[in-house]
Amino acid sequence: MKEAERISRLGTETAFNVSAEAGAFAALGNKMYPFHLGDMNIKTPANIIEAAVKALNDGKTGYCNNAGIPQLREALAEDINASHGTQYSMDNVSIQPGGKPVIGKFIMALMNPGDEVIYPNPGYPIYESQIEFNGGKAAPYGFVEGALNFAIDIDMIENSITRQTKALILNDMQNPTGAECSMVELEKLAELALKHDLYVLCDEAYFDVRYDGPGRSFVSIPGMADRCVILYTFSKKFAMTGWRLGAAVGPKNIIEVISKLNVNHESCSNHFIQYAAIEAIKGPQMEARKILDTLRLRRDTAAGLLNSIKGVKCFKPKGTFYLYPNITEAAQKIWARNYEEFRKNALQRTGVSICSRAHFGRQFEGEREWYIRLAYSGIDVAEIKEGLAKFKAFLEG
Ligand code: PLP
Repeated sequence: MKEAERISRLGTETAFNVSAEAGAFAALGNKMYPFHLGDMNIKTPANIIEAAVKALNDGKTGYCNNAGIPQLREALAEDINASHGTQYSMDNVSIQPGGKPVIGKFIMALMNPGDEVIYPNPGYPIYESQIEFNGGKAAPYGFVEGALNFAIDIDMIENSITRQTKALILNDMQNPTGAECSMVELEKLAELALKHDLYVLCDEAYFDVRYDGPGRSFVSIPGMADRCVILYTFSKKFAMTGWRLGAAVGPKNIIEVISKLNVNHESCSNHFIQYAAIEAIKGPQMEARKILDTLRLRRDTAAGLLNSIKGVKCFKPKGTFYLYPNITEAAQKIWARNYEEFRKNALQRTGVSICSRAHFGRQFEGEREWYIRLAYSGIDVAEIKEGLAKFKAFLEG
């Protein structure tokens, strides 16, 4: 088979390869500690499951509106308005089979071949993949490691804007760093978006996976709702990763285009699940809060243990379920020419399965610091303790 030329530009999410490798390692009878993937070992709240079963029994098994059922679109618009101070109605919402499809659809809706899109690196690898697959130029921006957090390298963004720049991707509460933008950063980005007439994809996959204080969205800044599309997902907040349900929320004209892409791609998102999603939003929130409590304890345990390792420095993010420690000093003691060797070595010798900076975009020339990413959404506290004790022994030799 000679595949189409565009396939050579399609990237992937290499964390899934790590997952397969770790699975094979465990299948041989080895003890494995899964820190590699942002999947969850927490059960979806019972009221949501019951609502899905009821919808199935009620016959919600046919096609539905390609933008989603009106009741869910209204419920989501109201929910987002309450936390973002926006004025969305159901016309601003297009239901999607997950948050991920919003990335490609946003790019297809707005970017012409040859246009540039600025995106975070390290960052969720699908941005780079979809920009390039659709014939655009992927312009990366990095982060600066501060005393308490990673900050967006605003200068780098400013310097990479050209007349061809069409859009910016912002993932506040970021994967992999866990970083939250300061208000100063958000305002500066808003200024740049206005000055250069940029559309912004606000990937808010972790907006509600927040352990301290209320959320603050880029979209809430005056003038931004007109140029932003929010990537919303049910995956993380309600432990529904495998259900595949999310939404694009933004200006009506862009949302209409995105829904037209739905007609072409999947007709509509899974019908009966949309009734469960209404229950997720409008039903009791106690279980969602328990999910957060579980994740908070895991974060505290894992960050504490990582910081106890000589030569490792780990921020404790206010949200997401990722940790992104700087392991530069500790890694020097381990024989490894590159990240992959380090990762494989750690898996073979300790069973701890991780991702590294290399799984989150092409590295910049001259990068000296070493980072790994640990997801704690799929591993219990006891296993975190056991696994990271072995990891500590491995690194401290
Ligand atoms: N955006 C970010 C930053 C993510 O980390 C993820 C999943 O890990 C997604 C989007 C997509 O999630 P989903 O398709 O499950 O909604």
